[in-house]
Amino acid sequence: RAKKSAAEKICFYDEAMDETIRTRTVLTAELQAALEKGQFELHYQVQTSVLTGEITGYEALLRWRHPQRGVILPSEFIPLAEESGFIGRLGEWVLRTACQEATTWKPPYKVSVNLSPVQFAYPDLSGLVAAVLRQTGLDPARLELELTESTIITDKARALAIVNQIKALGVTIALDDFGTGYSSLDTLRSFPFDRIKLDRSFMQDFESSPRVKAIVRAVLALGKSLEIPILAEGIETPGQLLLLGEEGCDHAQGFFLGRPATVFDIVDSGQIMRAASLDPSRRADLPH
Ligand code: C2E
Ligand code: MG
Ligand code: MG
Ligand code: MG
Repeated sequence: RAKKSAAEKICFYDEAMDETIRTRTVLTAELQAALEKGQFELHYQVQTSVLTGEITGYEALLRWRHPQRGVILPSEFIPLAEESGFIGRLGEWVLRTACQEATTWKPPYKVSVNLSPVQFAYPDLSGLVAAVLRQTGLDPARLELELTESTIITDKARALAIVNQIKALGVTIALDDFGTGYSSLDTLRSFPFDRIKLDRSFMQDFESSPRVKAIVRAVLALGKSLEIPILAEGIETPGQLLLLGEEGCDHAQGFFLGRPATVFDIVDSGQIMRAASLDPSRRADLPH
């Protein structure tokens, strides 16, 4: 009796696994066609100065507008793109689209683009960045590339060389999701980051937990002494923003300041204006 039910459980488990694998396989196969059909789009989330509230830039966040499944978030398809090697082409599309888009913005805010660790493994990432900047005409100082510590741990010397090549172009580098994963002070010691993004998990108990507050305070002090601005991710309440101001945090990003949105919604909200030449034609054929 016990044996049978165990077998049933195993069988049930296998079916669930099967379904997951099937979904993953289908999605992986669909990635390439999705790029060709224009189903990927970038949403942009505002970043502001904590002290003045002024906008400093926007982070580009990838979305897949799937005809049957609706909008799929990056956590569902970026890993598939990384495993299948498709992240190379997809990442290039993200970089080119974000740079192209940013050239149309008034005022000329910065744009932040996320890089996958896998992109670092491909030859000549800095060459790609240089080519995209040349082709789009974006001022390199307006581009920030975000990387996480998982990018760095695989081959530290190689990652550092690539980071330095990219920085030589005039592009800035941010350390994303700081405080989670492989966080170590060694990373901060050896990499010339222009900005540190404190992971949003620290905002959850920021106001209520003295312990979390002490850690955030220490990170902010570290940023001050290293002269690296700190951006706090995941600001969801006015209280968090107020407290960050008191603690001397430089920049903030989060739902309270603005959710990721299409560039059309951002234009409609009056935060940015776009060069007229691009606006009407693209508005017509892009999904809203
Ligand atoms: P990330 O780079 O840390 O981006 C911030 C994520 O936090 C975004 O999720 C954003 O929607 C979310 N977020 C922002 N403010 C808040 C808030 O106040 N509360 C909460 N709960 N969440 C907030 P998203 O867009 O789902 O992206 C998840 C991750 O996927 C990103 O984390 C990034 O690592 C990756 N990603 C996104 N776009 C790209 C891309 O173009 N290329 C690569 N390689 N990775 C990307
Ligand atoms: Mg990011
Ligand atoms: Mg982040
Ligand atoms: Mg994060």
